[in-house]
Amino acid sequence: MSNAETEPAELLCETVVRPESEPKVDVLAARDVPLGGPRAMTVRRTLPQRARTLIGAWCFVDHYGPDDVADTGGMNVPPHPHTGLQTVSWLFSGEIEHRDSLGVHAFVRPGELNLMTGGYGISHSEVSTARTTILHGVQLWVALPEEHRHTGRDFQHYVPDPVRVDGAEVRVFLGALAGATSPVRTFTPLLGAEIVLEPRSTITLGTDAGFEHGLLVDQGSIGVAGALLQPADLGYLGTGNDTLSLTNEGDTAARAVLLGGAPFEEQILMWWNFIGRSHDDIVEAREAWENASDRFGRVDGYVGDRLPAPALPRTPITLRRNPPRH
Ligand code: MN
Repeated sequence: MSNAETEPAELLCETVVRPESEPKVDVLAARDVPLGGPRAMTVRRTLPQRARTLIGAWCFVDHYGPDDVADTGGMNVPPHPHTGLQTVSWLFSGEIEHRDSLGVHAFVRPGELNLMTGGYGISHSEVSTARTTILHGVQLWVALPEEHRHTGRDFQHYVPDPVRVDGAEVRVFLGALAGATSPVRTFTPLLGAEIVLEPRSTITLGTDAGFEHGLLVDQGSIGVAGALLQPADLGYLGTGNDTLSLTNEGDTAARAVLLGGAPFEEQILMWWNFIGRSHDDIVEAREAWENASDRFGRVDGYVGDRLPAPALPRTPITLRRNPPRH
């Protein structure tokens, strides 16, 4: 997915970990962002936002649907570039056709992880297929650490087996949870899992106390550490939790995506679809895309034009030092 803001600001993202002795949740509410196009499918974005820019290396969280594509026109994101990050596509419903400059032509389907590594530079297009009636899912980005941010393009596909725990079904697409471990390689320690909670149930999952976590609620209301999260809310939990208890008091199933990771200690600079470390990194990447350089390659098979980069912000941003830890 592309960041469709017409005047994206450069955004400095840095870790501000709230260490804990007992679980406490910051509830991060979503803002609506139109993806662009005449009928403009809208996504709900919870990362980055003013109150928080990173959870582990997770740096971008968009939640969308369930949308009837007859109303929204579905998803049609023309070829656009990425650098310094990985994209994670995870669907609950519908199907998206993915094409990238690595030459991968893939279909993103519910319950299947598609992880694209942008590294130094990749470009891709994403179009919901004619078979899709309801489009519903999440689009996530992972920041790459300094030593790997110029890595080569890559694409990994993985279908986790659902794991039964008492009161829930869990699909672990990255990292380890509930006895399941994803074989998919990441550049920093990460967790990504879909959790479906049965009606009127509570589950307790063992978690890595060195991780911070974010629980993105998709449907239903989920209680965690004294807060009741509603659909599209992202509940942030700091480090120090070796278990996490989730409660669904509703009469229907509730669903969430649990994200986690070791605190990402580097300060990054995000602009449009790029992650760098400096304003010059961003300028360089933008120029490469506008000049159709080999850095981002070419997407074959997409019908239509590539996305032009928006104008750069007028004021270059310089890196600041990290603020003191809370
Ligand atoms: Mn994208």
